[in-house]
Amino acid sequence: MTPKAWKIVRGARTAVQLLSLAVVSVAVAAGYSCLLTRMQIVPAMLACSVVWLLAWIVITVLVGRVYCSTVCPLGTFQDIMARLGIRRRGYFYTVAMTPLRWLMVIAAVAAAVMGLWEVVALLDPYSEWADIINRLGIPAYERVAEALGRRPVLRAVTVSLASGAFTAVIAGVIVYVAATRGRRICNTVCPVGTLLGAVARLSVYHVDIDTDRCTGCNRCVERCKGTCINPWEHTVDLSRCVVCLDCLDVCPNQAITFRRGRHRLQMPLMMPAAGYRFSRRMPSPRALLTVRLVVGR
Ligand code: SF4
Ligand code: SF4
Ligand code: SF4
Repeated sequence: MTPKAWKIVRGARTAVQLLSLAVVSVAVAAGYSCLLTRMQIVPAMLACSVVWLLAWIVITVLVGRVYCSTVCPLGTFQDIMARLGIRRRGYFYTVAMTPLRWLMVIAAVAAAVMGLWEVVALLDPYSEWADIINRLGIPAYERVAEALGRRPVLRAVTVSLASGAFTAVIAGVIVYVAATRGRRICNTVCPVGTLLGAVARLSVYHVDIDTDRCTGCNRCVERCKGTCINPWEHTVDLSRCVVCLDCLDVCPNQAITFRRGRHRLQMPLMMPAAGYRFSRRMPSPRALLTVRLVVGR
């Protein structure tokens, strides 16, 4: 597919994402359940909804963590905050914090077994979003409706000062991290992201770099809010790729694609794209080539 075609697909994905966020938020605020609230992963687990759980496993095996870039409300909220954030230099690859990620999964499971539902709600992205809507969104909406002299049409909620303040702090942390580091929370703290990532490692279709076409320009690396494109090895950490497709339309050589199977490193061209300055935080492909020739790899 051409970069233009990927841009259209990315636009469609973003539209689905925003529509899902709006529908889920209104459903939560109005106290209703709908298809989009029932398909959320942790509620589906708690309701033992075999259909939805199987559906997400099959989708993730086929195309990776699509859930994280379409229907997860907290993922969409982070993307909006990332868009509003100021990142002049773009993103950069980070090493996976695998032990921390699995520690969070163990913590979530242990909390559920012990009946500590407040902890489960804190770690479940859907419950966290519901808390933000119920404890911050609805009270804010009521104040605005009062100020405008209108009768609020949403259900009334009673929020204690302590729970409201706690949710405001959590929301503030999410906003700050998303605005400055993209999907860092998704790829370190969220247990759902870690479980989906474990399956996505084996996904049939995934983002992949054709090393014979890649010139090491780093445009895709700087676009990747999952910070999962390794510019040295020309690989994508599929356990952290949220399938946002943001990287596919920036490549000047169409070297990064969404495809089946993997390209093996053969002979990277090691040519910088015209007019592009390499990041000071990483060695240039030319320096890497020299190291490879010296060490014989
Ligand atoms: S990693 Fe968690 S919070 Fe992020 S999009 Fe996926 S499910 Fe949502
Ligand atoms: S050439 Fe394409 S795949 Fe290679 S670093 Fe640049 S944008 Fe990424
Ligand atoms: S590798 Fe591409 S699709 Fe995956 S998270 Fe990064 S930018 Fe998004």
